[in-house]
This record gives sequence, structure tokens and C-alpha cells, in this order.
Amino acid sequence: MDKNVEAFMEDIVAKNPGEKEFHQAVQEVAESIMPFIEKNPKYKRAKILERIAEPERVIMFRVPWIDDAGEIQINRGYRIQMNSAIGPYKGGLRLHPSVNLSILKFLAFEQVFKNSLTTLPIGGGKGGSNFNPKGKSDNEVMKFCQSFMNELYRHIGPNTDVPAGDIGVGGREIGYLFGQYKRLRNEFSGILTGKALNWGGSLIRPEATGYGCVYFAQEMMKLSGKNMKGKICTVSGSGNVAQYTVEKLNELGAKVVTLSDSSGTIYDPDGIDSKKLAYVMELKNVKRGRIKEYAEKYGITYEAGKRPWHIKCDMAFPSATQNEISKEDAKILVDNGCICVAEGANMPTEPEGIETFQKAKILYGPGKAANAGGVATSALEMSQNSLRMSWRREEVNEKLQWIMKSIHENCVKYGKEGAYVNYVKGANTAGFVKVADAMLDHGAV
Ligand code: NDP
Repeated sequence: MDKNVEAFMEDIVAKNPGEKEFHQAVQEVAESIMPFIEKNPKYKRAKILERIAEPERVIMFRVPWIDDAGEIQINRGYRIQMNSAIGPYKGGLRLHPSVNLSILKFLAFEQVFKNSLTTLPIGGGKGGSNFNPKGKSDNEVMKFCQSFMNELYRHIGPNTDVPAGDIGVGGREIGYLFGQYKRLRNEFSGILTGKALNWGGSLIRPEATGYGCVYFAQEMMKLSGKNMKGKICTVSGSGNVAQYTVEKLNELGAKVVTLSDSSGTIYDPDGIDSKKLAYVMELKNVKRGRIKEYAEKYGITYEAGKRPWHIKCDMAFPSATQNEISKEDAKILVDNGCICVAEGANMPTEPEGIETFQKAKILYGPGKAANAGGVATSALEMSQNSLRMSWRREEVNEKLQWIMKSIHENCVKYGKEGAYVNYVKGANTAGFVKVADAMLDHGAV
């Protein structure tokens, strides 16, 4: 490791003990932008990287609620307000039993660079709770969301911090959170994105992360003279991002053969067509069932406890969670002839896996670039709320496509290494420059 990165990381580890996901995310960025900082001493003198790695504010709070049996339950809530140099904090809320400070700090840190890349004026934040929505009734989810908002409402606002969804937070949860905010403040304002269409939501927001990820993959393929038609794709996860990734891949003539959840993977060699996708959407979003039921319905293979990466594919779209592609998985993907990996999830590939992709010189689009379409469309929802207007579906989709194209161009601009594009370096550097310059303008704050 470069000695400047080593010294920087020693300090990060000492200040944030035990936060391994946060260390991983910071180190990835430090490694790719340290040479750029060394060449531009104004950033070094102003200690921009050190400041970016320190959250502006961390809020942790008790979330008590009463379950259907009348028993008191206690969860822990968080909001990490990471960086507001270029706009109000923006980033999702995650509800999952694995949620802790380290995971939310890594996500908030990534969000700062991602949001900067979108070309829109949004800062970075992230939040959530270790609450597990699985197996809970609608009433219990509502009780939790209301209690969560009873504290969060003090810290957010349309010009301060605008949360959105993430794992475990979809339309239902955004509705309950919004309802409680409105009640507490006696105010109808755009304090959350991912809202339903009839109360301030934007068309294309639910589709945006998955669609955007496919648009980004399409740009990477185009630049290297390839197209998506007929390509065999593996997708992990079966939630919001995975579902709309499949929809867009189908539209572009690719064939998706896998989906997964935390219990296992389905392999459908005939492809998950639009009819089967409609079944998945009903199964996951309404019945809240398991992906195994797909295998039972269509009589195909289900692999319990497995991820999809051993299945031969041309393109892979990790869309479930962090660290879901190990070094071994990456090697199998490359050996099986995979030419492109576009990350719908945040930090789904372990550092050695990224190295494997880059050594093999395959197209590798890191999450902070490839999945930025979600937050970008959230920012478009904020714009529509401010204007008190709604844009047409085609209008939002066009803007999303344009944004993904710009992100790709910026990655190429800062990431070109001869004929190869290092999208990690490109995304980190492009994201950094805009935030860093704003921080220089603002002085030592
Ligand atoms: P959802 O909750 O809708 O779906 C998550 C999916 O991933 C589910 O299939 C879930 O399975 C699976 N999953 C979750 N945790 C694990 C785990 N530990 N191991 C294996 N599988 C797991 O979330 P989203 O689709 O919104 O988010 C997916 C990823 O995309 C996350 O990394 C998120 O941060 C990222 N992302 C999301 C954006 C958005 O707009 N929603 C924007 C940008 C990034 P199960 O049902 O069994 O839990």
C-alpha cells in the first residue's frame, strides 16, 4: 500500500475502531485518489480527504414501539449526515437486522461521491435501524416507522436532509414515515423521496436505480464496441433494484437467468421474461414471500444458501447487498467469460474481487457510479416538489438517461488508463473534485 494511504488509514482505523465496512469504503477511495491529491496540493493543505472521512454529524437514537402482542420492542435508529458541501444531505434509510454504525457510515461516505457524480446539488447521508421488517405485520411496521420519525423529524427538512428508501424501505415504509412527519410538523413538504405519485412522488423513481444501472452498463458496452442484445445476465437480489434491472435488460433484448434472496438463488435458463417478472413483483412486494416459490411455480432449479456467481454469464448485476462477490466469485465470473459487471448494490464486491476484475480488464462499473440513477431521480423528485409540478414519464426517463451518460463520461475523463477505463478511479476522482472544490470555497468548516 502507498505510504500516504497507509498513514491516512492508520488514523481512520484508530478514530473509528471496529468499523470494518467503513474502513473498506474509505480505503478504496483513498487508494484511488491519493495520487491525484499529491498532484494537487491545495486539497492536501486543506485536509479535504481527512475532513470528508469525518461525518458532519451522527445521530443515534432509541426507537421504542409496541408489537401486536402488546410487548415493548426497542430498536436503535441512526442518521449519518456525512457531507453538505454541495447540497442538503441525501441518502436512503435501511431497515435490516445487520444495520450498525459501520455499515451506515460506509454507505453515507459512498453517497457523498455518488451524489456529487449525479451532476445535481445534493450532499451525502444515510440512516436506518436494526429493525427487521420480515415477518412483521403492516401494523407493526407502521408503529416502528412512526416511532422512528418521532425522533428523526427534528433533524431533517427539505433544505436540510431528505432521506429515501434502501434495503427494507419501499413505498409502504416511506408512506408511514411521511404521514408521521406531516402530523408532527403540520406541514406538507418534500422531506422524503420515493413517495407515491398521488402525494408528491415522481414517475420513474421506483425504476430508477435498476434502469440507471442498465443504462450505465450499456454505456460501458458501447464504448468498447459491444451491445447487450442476446447477452446472458445474472442478477442477484429480488428487491427493488433487481426487479427493475431485469425489466430494463429484457427491454434491451438481454436474457436474465438468475435472481436471489438471502436464502438462495433461482436459475431459470429460459430467462425471466416479463410475465415471470410480474410474478416476482407480486411475490416480493405484495405477498412478501421467498424467491424459492418461483422455482416451485416454474419447475426450475433452486440453490439454497447460494449466490448466482457460479452460473455462466456474459454480464453480472449484483443487486442485493455489500460484499456479496468474493475474490473466488470474481475469479469464477471471469473464468466463465463474464465481460461486464455493473453494481446495482452498494459495495457488493470485496476489494480482492475488484482487483480480479481490473486485472482481467473486464468492464467493471462500481456502485457509486452504476447505481447513482436512484438518488439522481430522487433529486428530480425534489425539484418537482419545489416547483409543485410533475414531469411526464418520458421526461424523467430522458433526464435519467442523460445523467447516467454524464456520469459515464466523467468516469472516462478521470479514469482512462491507456485503452482501459478504470471506472473506480474515474468515479472516485470525479466525485471528489466537485465536493472538494466546494469545501475549499467554504473555508475550514
Ligand atoms: P430491497 O430491500 O428491495 O431488496 C434487497 C434484496 O437483497 C432482497 O432480495 C434481499 O433478500 C436481498 N438481501 C438483502 N440483504 C441480504 C444479505 N445480507 N444477503 C443476501 N441477500 C440480501 O432493497 P433494494 O433493492 O432497494 O437494495 C438493494 C441494494 O441496492 C442495496 O445494496 C442498496 O443499498 C442498493 N441501492 C438501492 C437503491 C434504491 O434506490 N433502492 C439506490 C442505490 C443503491 P431478502 O428478501 O431475503 O432480505
